[in-house]
Parts: sequence; C-alpha cells; structure tokens
Amino acid sequence: MSIYKYGTCFLCVCALLSACTGESEKTTDQPVNDARSPAVGTSDTDWPLHGNDFGETRFSPLDQVNKSNVDDLGLAWSYDLGSTRGVEATPIVVGGVMYVSAPWSVVHAVNAKTGAPLWVYDPKVDRQHAIYACCDVVNRGVAVADGRVFVGTVDGRLVALDAKSGSLLWEVQTTPPDQPYTITGAPRVIKDKVVIGNGGAELLVRGYITAYDTATGTQAWRFYTVPGDPSKPVEHPELESAMATWTGEWWKDGGGGTAWDSMVYDPELNLLYVGVGNGAPWPRYQRSPGGGDNLFLCSILALNPDTGRLVWHYQTTPGDNWDYTSVQPMILADLKINGEERKVLLQAPKNGFFYVLDRTSGEFISAQPYTTVNWATHIDPETGRPVEAPAGQYAEKDRIIYPGPLGGHNWQGMAFNPNTGYVYLPAQDVPLLYANDPQWREQPGAWRLGLDGAKLFDAELPEYKGYLVAWDPVAQKAVWRHEFAGYWNGGVLATGGDLVFQGSADGLFTAYDAMSGDQIWQVAGTTGIIAPPTSYAIDGEQYVAVAAGYGGGGINGGIIEGAVINRYLNQGRVLAFKLGGAAPMPTSPPRNLTLPEPPQQTASAETVAQGKYLYDHHCWPCHGSNVASSWVVPDLRYLSAERHAIFNDIVLKGALLPLGMPSFGAELDDADAEAIHAYVIEKAHELKAEQGALAAAE
Ligand code: CA
Repeated sequence: MSIYKYGTCFLCVCALLSACTGESEKTTDQPVNDARSPAVGTSDTDWPLHGNDFGETRFSPLDQVNKSNVDDLGLAWSYDLGSTRGVEATPIVVGGVMYVSAPWSVVHAVNAKTGAPLWVYDPKVDRQHAIYACCDVVNRGVAVADGRVFVGTVDGRLVALDAKSGSLLWEVQTTPPDQPYTITGAPRVIKDKVVIGNGGAELLVRGYITAYDTATGTQAWRFYTVPGDPSKPVEHPELESAMATWTGEWWKDGGGGTAWDSMVYDPELNLLYVGVGNGAPWPRYQRSPGGGDNLFLCSILALNPDTGRLVWHYQTTPGDNWDYTSVQPMILADLKINGEERKVLLQAPKNGFFYVLDRTSGEFISAQPYTTVNWATHIDPETGRPVEAPAGQYAEKDRIIYPGPLGGHNWQGMAFNPNTGYVYLPAQDVPLLYANDPQWREQPGAWRLGLDGAKLFDAELPEYKGYLVAWDPVAQKAVWRHEFAGYWNGGVLATGGDLVFQGSADGLFTAYDAMSGDQIWQVAGTTGIIAPPTSYAIDGEQYVAVAAGYGGGGINGGIIEGAVINRYLNQGRVLAFKLGGAAPMPTSPPRNLTLPEPPQQTASAETVAQGKYLYDHHCWPCHGSNVASSWVVPDLRYLSAERHAIFNDIVLKGALLPLGMPSFGAELDDADAEAIHAYVIEKAHELKAEQGALAAAE
C-alpha cells in the first residue's frame, strides 16, 4: 500500500473553526432526541443523526483520541450481529444506547459502553423479496427521535419502534408489495415527519420519496422524482415541467429516479436535500429516444419538508446514460470561496465529479473530477452542465467507460473536518463495458438494464482500484490519496483529534493523520468493512465504533482482490474501540476452499451456452460474473454433492429460501434451471482444471 501526496494545503480557509461552522453544525446542550428543535446539531457525546450532525459531516468533535495517543486505541467490546451478508449501517448512539441495523433490516439495540445486548427487532422480511435486491439485502441505518427508532425494510415497509423496548409502535407499507421496490437507506426525521425513499431502478420502477407523521405513520406528502403516464393527471405540479424533458414511452419502464440513500436537512433554511438516482433502463437511447434531460433523474432536490414542494433542483447528469446516481452522501458546510462566505452543499456523485453548490439557491459554484472520468471533459462553469465526450457514447459502439455503474464513489459516507477544511472521500476506479441492447425487451429472461450482459462479462477491463482521498473542496483538488489493495472499501469518519478512520475490504480498520494522510494506527479483523464508523463518549471515554460485514453492490463484480472474505466466513459484528481497550479481536472460521468434485458434464455445449445466458441475466448480481462469487453468497463452483442433487428445487422451489436464496419459479422453468446447472458445472470443471494445472506447476 502506498500514500500519494498531491501537495500541501496552504490555503486552509477553515483554519478558524468559526469560519466554517454554520448553524447546522453548532454544538448544543439540547437533548438530541428533541427533533423539533431547529438548533439541534451535533452532540459532544452522542452520534444522534445519520451523519452525526444536520450537515451530515460525519465529523465528531471528540478529541480524546488523537495523534499523540492513538497507539493506545484497542478493542473495548464487540457485538455479534448474527449476520452473514453486507453491513452498511451507521450506528446511531443516543443516551448511551447504540442502535444499529443489520442485513434483512433487523435492528439491534446495544449498551454502547459495554456492548451488552438490550433488544433485537426482526421485521421478518420475506426472503423471497431478495429477488428484487440489486445489491445485497443491506440496510444503512435507523433514525432515532422522540423515543422512537425508525427503520426501512428490504420489502418496502417503514417501521417505528419504541426506543426503550424495541416493541413495534406502527408500520406502513411504503411501496406496492408486488413491485420490485426495496428499501436499504436510512430514514431521516425532520420535525414531526419521517422521510423515506426506495430503490429498484435496475428492475424498472418509478422513484419517489414519502414523508410520514412520526407519531402515527400517516402519510404527509409524497414527491415523485419522475413523471408518470402523461395521459393521467400529474400527482404534483413539479411533474408538469419535468414531463417536457422526457420523450418516448418512458413511464412504461418506470423511468427510475429512485432516491435510495442521501437526505440532508438544513434547519436554518428549512430545506430537505434529497439525492435522486439513475434512469431505468440505463441507456437514454432506449428510455427517452428523442433526447431530453429526463428530470429529476440524477438530481439534487431541495424540498420544503413541511409540504414536500420543490424549492430548487440541480441535475448532475442530464439525460443519464450510465447509472450515474446522485444519491451519494451530501455534506452541508460553510466555506469561504473567492473571499465570500458561502453556504454550500458538497457531493461526489457516481459520475466522478466533486460538486460544490450554493445550498440556498442550487447555484453551481464548481466541479472537478475526483476519479478517472472519460464520459465528459468537464463541467461548463457557465451552465453547470457536463460537456459529454465521444468516449461516453455507446449507442452504436461498445465502450469501456469511467466511472462504471458502481460509481467513482458510492453510498459509503464521506466526512468533512472543519479544522482541516478537507473532505475525506472513499473513491474508486471501476470502469464498465457499456453495450447497448435495444432487443432486450424481446428476449425472455433478459435483464432489465438495457445493456447486453453477455458482452459485459466477457470484456477485458482495466484493473479496479480503491482509494481514500483527502479533497480540498475550495481548491477542488486532491491533497493526499491512499490506495487500497482492492475497490469497495468503507465509509469514513473524521474526528476532532484530527484523525480519519476507515475500514476496508481486507478487514483492516485504520486511522490516518487528517493533514498528511500518514497511516498512524491499524487493527486487523477477519470481517471486511464497508460501513462508515461513528464516534461517541460515555463516562468521559471516547469510543470509535464500526459495523463490519462485507457485501453490498460491490459483490456484483465477483471476486474482490485482497478481500478478507475470500479467506474467512463473513460474520457481521460491531467493533468498538477506546484508549486502553484490551479485548481480543474476534475471529471468524476460515473458509473451506477445498473444491468438491463437480458432477460429470452431461449437457450439450448449446445447453451450457443457454445456461450462461440465463445465469448472466438472473444469477449474476449476487453470485458474481462467470460464476466467480465475492463469497457474500456462495460461489456455485464449490457446491456440495448434496446441493447439486437438489439444484432445481433450490432455483425453482425455494428449497434454500430460509438462507436467503429466493425462488425463481415464476421466471424460470425446469429446462432453464437445468441449463444454468450445466453452466455452473462447466465453470466448476474449469476451476478444477486450473487448480490442477497450478498444483502440477508447483
Ligand atoms: Ca442504479
């Protein structure tokens, strides 16, 4: 591993804390669960909100753990989440209790000082609903306010629990249960409303966000992010003008625009900022063939949270063509730009540009690439629109485009330290071959992205890379950069001790010097980390905690180089560290990597090819391309003889539904399942031969 330095920050406009601390970031003594108070921001001791404060800076002012003593940081306690899938939750800490969500939307309440369990709430998500989850059955966290805990469930419910007992107060189905919507994002509470979005654009849905009364679950308002069927009346006036930016028959495929993660509230301006997702299907050539910006795809919306009416919007990727969601975490900060104090909104969406906007008006201030970008040359400073490059056009010619659909940055939270003035950004270089497939609707069992999956999986792609980047949002350039062994690493925490904490795929949890990027503390675990850490204090002791558990959208790409999940079973757990902590790091059983003897291949080459086609459209998102899995779910080449014997029952009848493998009985028949099985057997024999050749060479 290496650290790349891009120079030193000579212009730290935020050297004076007061110059950077807006109303939304002020520390107050008010109780953090008083969600009605407009002044509530960070608490010195708790981590009450998703990004700690209203600005979602993911900055903890706590400085007990700092550069002088971080060597003494050790494990205080660990808590077993009892899970084997991806863990993306930010643990919320209020009044000494940690509330953390796990895969399948299960909520755990834990004593934040000791790790002792308090209660567990399992919403009992129908495992069959996993068939709609593009990117693992993850949950990014709860919201806690007024003695209630709110969580969204994979099957589209919003649930309110009693914070003390974990008992159900109310729940509401926020999505049509028979449509492929999911919820993985954390709700946000604004005054007396709780707001939740959803996901599912990859399976063709229409995005929206909804506000509910926190006490009763009664719907207050709903904002659709894309217009519906033009022959019907619009649901709210903003959709009239949005309609003019679409062509063709987009509504038949839903249009997309799912708001599946980022929401930030500015109490001073009374604005709720919502990040909107990509178009469905992905290629605009198919979705809106006559062109158009396709509002409000890939936009940042500023809504009045009392009414749900739009105040302003800014579209990062007009006429999205690449799955360039703008749902990535946003940070509200006050920065001095060209001698002027500006209330800004910071976002590094998937499209690879780091944006600074005026959050009062949506005015574009600046944008520069934070990762490899070839789809656009730059953002026009006059119009705030990207200038697209020929390299990003794939209507007629397949192209390898940077960034790919996993984004230059995904949901993994970035952090802003007002003392250094830097944003700490988990970035990556993950390109994809984009191959337009206008015929996909005519092909039974085709995937619903509008791309040709077979071409994608056979493409030779440049190596994927992952980074932690310290970004100066005023100068719009990287200050230092740390490169990881692989991509798809954790979210970030910045602290008043001028430390930056981040976990990674390799199971390491690391502290960096916020100014220099020097790696100054590290601990090794056996569970990969993707979630962002939090920090809080109890009885005068500062804790740094992170939920570990590898998974999420990164599993779509198959094997992740250097990931600890390739060697150990993926056991979800919370790890909490403090100075002098001396608990032993928990370990997980090593993975059995002995390849069982695959069954004999009895199918024809034609059947194997058909099996590959079906695998590439149904199985790939979880089990990995070319049957090489990231191990979050099993690598099918390693199936036991017992599992081979019931292969069709697993695929068609839900024989392993309790383990999270949904039935594809409604989409596939016996011949389909047999063809997929033949392809899996073929790939198992290939691996066996490779291993044999390797052994012979040694
Ligand atoms: Ca997407």
